[in-house]
Amino acid sequence: MKLFNTLSGKKEEVERPEGRPLNIFVCGPTVYDAAHLGHARTYIAFDALVRFLRAEGWQVFYLQNITDVDDKIIDRAREADTTPAKLAKEYERAYQRTMKHIGVRSVDTYAPASKFIPQIVSQVERLIAKGFAYRIEESGYYFDITTFPDYGKLSGRTATQAEDAVTRIDEQIAKKNRGDFALWKFIDAHPRNASKKFMLVNGEPAWRASVGWGRPGWHIEDTAITEALFGPQYDIHGGAEDLKFPHHEAEIAQQEAASGKKPFVKLWLHTGFMRVRGEKMSKSLKNFVTIEQFLATYPALVLRWLVLSHHYRSPINFDDATIEQAVRSVASLQETLDKLLFISRKGMRIGAPDRMFMFDEQSLEARWHAALLDDFNTPEAFAAVFAFINELNPHLWKLSRKEAKTALGQIVNAFEMLGIEFVPEKATREAEALANERELYRGSKQFTQADALRKDVLGLGYTVDDTPLGPFVRRTPKS
Ligand SMILES: [Zn+2]
Repeated sequence: MKLFNTLSGKKEEVERPEGRPLNIFVCGPTVYDAAHLGHARTYIAFDALVRFLRAEGWQVFYLQNITDVDDKIIDRAREADTTPAKLAKEYERAYQRTMKHIGVRSVDTYAPASKFIPQIVSQVERLIAKGFAYRIEESGYYFDITTFPDYGKLSGRTATQAEDAVTRIDEQIAKKNRGDFALWKFIDAHPRNASKKFMLVNGEPAWRASVGWGRPGWHIEDTAITEALFGPQYDIHGGAEDLKFPHHEAEIAQQEAASGKKPFVKLWLHTGFMRVRGEKMSKSLKNFVTIEQFLATYPALVLRWLVLSHHYRSPINFDDATIEQAVRSVASLQETLDKLLFISRKGMRIGAPDRMFMFDEQSLEARWHAALLDDFNTPEAFAAVFAFINELNPHLWKLSRKEAKTALGQIVNAFEMLGIEFVPEKATREAEALANERELYRGSKQFTQADALRKDVLGLGYTVDDTPLGPFVRRTPKS
């Protein structure tokens, strides 16, 4: 399989490790608020990728961190008059529930930073010992980016530009370089009980450590977690595009400096930007949409479809047209699948001899796989399904039961591989019985009675289409 490596700037063949799983890490959420559409974009994309790899026979260990120690959590906890740990736990649970709702279930381990404090401290100690970190009194330990000549190799950036106000560069006047980032933040703790290992100081969490009472900086949480679970080097690191700098650049600097081993990660994957009605999503613009808000109006299937109908590296603009397009595509596919199910039950036992269509079982599977193996091109794979359906459509009513069943199975299985679960439906017995009765009236040209029965079927939530195979009864699509 080929994937686009941000580090090399080109598509590369993914190496299959021998005797161990492919280790994938994706930056998880900072749990201080509800997960939003940006999270859905990234986590659905990586969930689908991991599902696909597993379906292809790869052994994958998918790890995600949970940033449960962070300034944003501390601030939010103060506002809400609670502790950072309680607030983080609450949002971590909400995050897990939401991920379940959107079918993200490929992650093997969620690792909260608060459970890895000793590993974080160990990394800070090594960076200090090797001369990559320096101390600022009453502030903390900082990574000196000038000691690491490779800084900038992922993003092509080292200098901090005006826009970096939002990218969590630590503000600290006494830093050697503007781009230096915090590894460990001191907190002025004086526990009465000498054996205390943790305390809250004015609402800020502080751990006892050889490097002083304090808490970790943001970037080092991830490298400590991956070093603990994968070792100092691993296969794939994923995350949203906006984490490339400084977050991922900082991760490389920390881990390669601490271990002396390069590369820290072989392959870096980044998901494209997500906008809402053409604008960056933000609370101040009032276009902040949580996943649960979206799911209150649309099914999870539509959200997953919307995300995966875009290439993972392409930007997604959540606007009415894009959502409408996803709703329509899902409805049209559902209709085709329901029809194929109907034909597989009511169709001809053998295909009509006069049909022009040559049913090719291989074509869809081959195109589907080729698209996904080439930088996980999901829109191209979707296009293969629609091309297959377009070929099928003119001959649909002439398919044999077996052919309809095969086509149905192929489409359902293909999508299922990516966590897109279509369930072909047949009508209830009651709706079908009414439709069959209507057919009898129609046959004897008793159209008033036939019309009344059609309305009865509609009342049950179904629509009747007259087809060469008799009445096709399907659930009335929601408009
Ligand atoms: Zn991260």
